Amino acid sequence: IEVPDNPIIPIIHGDGIGKDVGPAAQEVLEAAAEATGREINWMRVYAGESAREIYGEDVNLPDETVEAIEEHRVAIKGPLTTPVGAGFRSLNVALRQTLDLYANVRPTYYLDGVPSPMKAPEEMDMVTFRENTEDVYAGIEWEAGTDEVEQVRDFVEQDMGFDSTIHEGPVGIGIKPITEKGSKRLVREAIDYALEHDRDKVTLVHKGNIMKFTEGQFSEWGMEVADEEYPDDEVFAAPDSLWEEQDDIDIPEGAVMVEERLADAMLQWMQLRTDEFDVLAMPNLNGDYLSDAAGAQIGGLGIAPGGNFGKGRMLAEPVHGSAPKRAGQDMANPTAMILSGRLMFDYLGWDDAADLIRDAVEETISSGNVTYDLERQLEDAEKLATSEYTAEVVS
Ligand code: NAD
Repeated sequence: IEVPDNPIIPIIHGDGIGKDVGPAAQEVLEAAAEATGREINWMRVYAGESAREIYGEDVNLPDETVEAIEEHRVAIKGPLTTPVGAGFRSLNVALRQTLDLYANVRPTYYLDGVPSPMKAPEEMDMVTFRENTEDVYAGIEWEAGTDEVEQVRDFVEQDMGFDSTIHEGPVGIGIKPITEKGSKRLVREAIDYALEHDRDKVTLVHKGNIMKFTEGQFSEWGMEVADEEYPDDEVFAAPDSLWEEQDDIDIPEGAVMVEERLADAMLQWMQLRTDEFDVLAMPNLNGDYLSDAAGAQIGGLGIAPGGNFGKGRMLAEPVHGSAPKRAGQDMANPTAMILSGRLMFDYLGWDDAADLIRDAVEETISSGNVTYDLERQLEDAEKLATSEYTAEVVS
């Protein structure tokens, strides 16, 4: 998107360790912007605990915060603690749904010096696109023992053949909505990303062999996007990729091939044939599991960055939560939030600043300067506080 060199960027530091990693990331992003001739006008906005302190006990997500992100289009947030009870599934989910940020994007790449259980972690360079608004996470569920669930159960038994003589006793029921619109816009976003970033493959990850009308339909709709919406020499669907090896297909320079894989097998392929995968697109639940598993291969939660995209807006956020046990102790690893900022710079088209951040983080970690979470997995590394590590990255 077109942005000035001095944009207003809303920032939510976040709850728990957000108080440590939020200001740390802000410092690094500011330094990288300045070093490349730009200036960020930060706009502090609030959600979660900090919003309750300022706006009152009932206000977790003030209108002003949502409006700021809507207006300025690109923003960054730290983790938010989900309040227990109070009718909230998750503040993060509420924020993504309110702004209709339908794609959760997580780049997974290896930084030199990061501990990894993989034999060849440097081969890991994937970007996952997870659908953010539907699937079993839509929260359409009925609690066991209620009148409502018994009505749904009657329907399921009479109309769908679910046999409760086998499944006696209480039942909880949930619904898995997968829409054509939701599937297609997610896959479109992944294909566009692949085209823009010179990636040659988009893999649709699903369990359509079992869940034909939801996950199976996701992949059919995804393949339709590949088939119908782009010129054939730009984007093409791999023939029969679910069951056939695709190794011998030549992908022309600049083109993108769209293939599909079953989700369970994919978790295996991701580790055994890491270098074969590029951009992955999948429904919500698969994306949640798969992106966390991928993140664990290259340093875990302290490192893994992410962002939510949709309708010309982007909200960068680390994958991790608020880790209350470590909060406010100047201990937490700010890398995940710093690299989420890198993704935001990438979205702004600030490639030089984005590269600078990656290089600075990599140089810091590979020289053995790390926070507690990495230090305990490494020999000969120095354990730094959040603030010390941040100062190293900035310098
Ligand atoms: P978590 O990610 O907060 O913490 C899990 C563990 O990972 C922590 O105990 C800590 O050891 C480690 N960890 C996480 N981030 C780290 C970092 N930056 N540096 C060092 N170590 C780190 O997950 P959780 O404990 O399941 O959730 C705590 C709270 O966070 C919950 O209220 C949950 O709802 C919320 N949450 C928010 C988000 C979000 O804001 N996007 C995501 C996940 C969880």
